[in-house]
Amino acid sequence: MNILILPGDGIGPEITTATMTVLQAVNKEFALPLTFTTEEIGLVSLKNRGSTLPETVLEATRRADGVILGPVSHSDYPPRAEGGINVSSELRIVLDLYANIRPSRSRKGIPHWGRTAMDLVIVRENTEGFYSDRNMVAGTGEFMPTEDIALSVRKITAFASNRIARAAFELAETRRKRVTAVHKANVIKLSEKLFLREVRKVAQDFGTVQLDEIIVDAMASYLVRDAARFDVIVTTNMFGDILSDEAAELSGSLGLAGGLNVGKDLAVAQAQHGSAPDIQGQDKANPTSLILSAAMLLEWLGQRHNHVALTKAARSINAAVDAALADPANHTRDLGGRLGTQAFANTVVEKLD
Ligand code: NAD
Repeated sequence: MNILILPGDGIGPEITTATMTVLQAVNKEFALPLTFTTEEIGLVSLKNRGSTLPETVLEATRRADGVILGPVSHSDYPPRAEGGINVSSELRIVLDLYANIRPSRSRKGIPHWGRTAMDLVIVRENTEGFYSDRNMVAGTGEFMPTEDIALSVRKITAFASNRIARAAFELAETRRKRVTAVHKANVIKLSEKLFLREVRKVAQDFGTVQLDEIIVDAMASYLVRDAARFDVIVTTNMFGDILSDEAAELSGSLGLAGGLNVGKDLAVAQAQHGSAPDIQGQDKANPTSLILSAAMLLEWLGQRHNHVALTKAARSINAAVDAALADPANHTRDLGGRLGTQAFANTVVEKLD
């Protein structure tokens, strides 16, 4: 199985190297069938090949069995016409990676900032919503009729709402059997009600899973007050983006938050955070988020190919990360410790079962 590695910008190359250390170790220990290919993207690729995402790299993602994508500094990219393609959103759109799976879990050794511990997964719709780059077949979803008026179009479809709801219910069936739909249907009456209509429709196919519904602003406070009550949360693109960062930080740090972008035939592992240029090249980045994202990719591949060793390797990485984080001596700077990026990855490898 070919895993394509796209290191990205800022701290991307550092956390990707650290993640590769862990992946190479499990590949050997669990005799996995993984081969790795690395391609340049982002600002390095812009300099060398005139585009942050050359067509040949996009083609390579289509041939891969799975992709590991480092964060990208897309705020610093030039316009698309000058080669600045936001790699993260482009892959989601072009490869139809419709489900962004973002777990947040509190862990031994890491104080959680919310009032309760948590073990939840946010299932975020990834292909439409309030993101101006994915709503139109031509042009963008944002436009300015005058210098002083800017308009944004938010697209919600029954199709995308239905399939993201299905992804959430399928996941909940394997967990604590509870889905919370987060919405703003009290104000955004048409599109949010359409989203809810589809969630309720899908719920009827999953008799053992309980559905409840919460308005997004209340949800922001419930995550702080009582996150323990949530299992799987399903929501539209922007609400999911914001709430998942909140949940990750409440669980201890944004640097702990793994994520997987899943389509029908491909999954892309991607940390929840950005490229953190403020700590680039200083061995301060916490690689946990990308390591856990890589573990999610192995778990997905294991299920897809019915490959038990891949599933075992994924669980072993999760357990090793938990064991490493349980000891504050292994914490990186974002968690108040002193360990460097690569040293943390080496510690995770030592803890692999
Ligand atoms: P950011 O997530 O990069 O950083 C926010 C803060 O968290 C910074 O203080 C940073 O040092 C810290 N941080 C983030 N990840 C960390 C880690 N692994 N270990 C320790 N500390 C970490 O957000 P930002 O500064 O707003 O954005 C920087 C760049 O990243 C921008 O160009 C933005 O567009 C881009 N971005 C990319 C993605 C992506 O690739 N999916 C997501 C968000 C932002």
